[in-house]
Amino acid sequence: MATDYYAVLGVRRDAGQDEIKKAFRRLARELHPDVNPDPKTQERFKEINAAYEVLSDPQKKQVYDLGGDPMSGAGGAGGAAGFGAGFGNFSDIMDAFFGTASQRGPRSRTRRGQDAMIRLEVELDEAAFGTTKDIQVDTAVVCNSCSGEGAAPGTSAQTCDMCRGRGEVSQVTRSFLGQVMTSRPCPQCQGFGTVVPTPCPECAGDGRVRSRRTLTVKIPAGVDNGTRIQLAGEGEVGPGGGPAGDLYVEIHELPHPVFQRRGDDLHCTVTIPMTAAALGTQCPLETLDGLEEVDIRPGTQSGQSIPLHQRGVTHLRSGGRGDLIVHVEVQTPGKLDAQQEDLLRQLAKLRGEERPSGHFQPGQQGLFSRLKDAFNGR
Ligand SMILES: [Zn+2]
Ligand SMILES: [Zn+2]
Repeated sequence: MATDYYAVLGVRRDAGQDEIKKAFRRLARELHPDVNPDPKTQERFKEINAAYEVLSDPQKKQVYDLGGDPMSGAGGAGGAAGFGAGFGNFSDIMDAFFGTASQRGPRSRTRRGQDAMIRLEVELDEAAFGTTKDIQVDTAVVCNSCSGEGAAPGTSAQTCDMCRGRGEVSQVTRSFLGQVMTSRPCPQCQGFGTVVPTPCPECAGDGRVRSRRTLTVKIPAGVDNGTRIQLAGEGEVGPGGGPAGDLYVEIHELPHPVFQRRGDDLHCTVTIPMTAAALGTQCPLETLDGLEEVDIRPGTQSGQSIPLHQRGVTHLRSGGRGDLIVHVEVQTPGKLDAQQEDLLRQLAKLRGEERPSGHFQPGQQGLFSRLKDAFNGR
């Protein structure tokens, strides 16, 4: 008997059931493995569970207070008295034989809450560089009036008198094998071991209420459509004020008027007249980093792409950035007036292009290579 269960729960030895329960619930919320997965904390969580299992059960508590081992049903004071003392102790002995003692006891009113999900729209530049956003979340939170207990202020849950806090009722029937004992959840307390005579009016006894609050979320650079950011313990508080689930913020990236994102690269198309493609030019482009000149070299072909290195989206994990790729589309002049047509004919003559034979290739080269670009872009 090395463990001091009272010290584990941080209560005095003369603490009542209510005080023991309150101390346990407070610690359980704090140390629940879903909230705090650290191995040391999990060890503590097991300790407080073990302590509560004993101290919340009037019979086990009595055995423990008398210096016995409450976890070995057949030994200690409870077991010794068992044979003459009626069915309660008889069932403890049965449990000791069949090893079911650990599964016994009332079930907790406290359960872990659900995870919640919220969609968050971000602009491309926010996804590219990261940002901080305030979001409105609407989740269940611990009820302030009853601190999650579910009992109206000034009242408390009472030990169920039908099962005496055990959460189950046993029945002995005679059969040809002799006496057979069956157990079922207590119908009066639904297996909780306690009843709440006056439920909290604020939460109707649920221990939680819905509330809208503002959370500040840090969005890391490089998030993409469908990226989920996990905020531990910001989800729904569970029944009975149980530990909250997690909140997932799912990123939805708004379309950008100019740039299309593929992975961490950005793509856009610039349309330039044939003359500019031949002579070369500079086109101003508002990138995510500000205004830059896209350098179109003389003799640029339609379908050619010009990469602007490190002007794409930040890589989520590794840092560094993708590229911005400008695809060039050369526009052939349409309606020509007489003078323009004359100049073009002169040019064709000078270049020996009056009757070009053309250069034939299989398939649809331009479209094919552009599709290939699209697949390789990711
Ligand atoms: Zn309440
Ligand atoms: Zn009951």
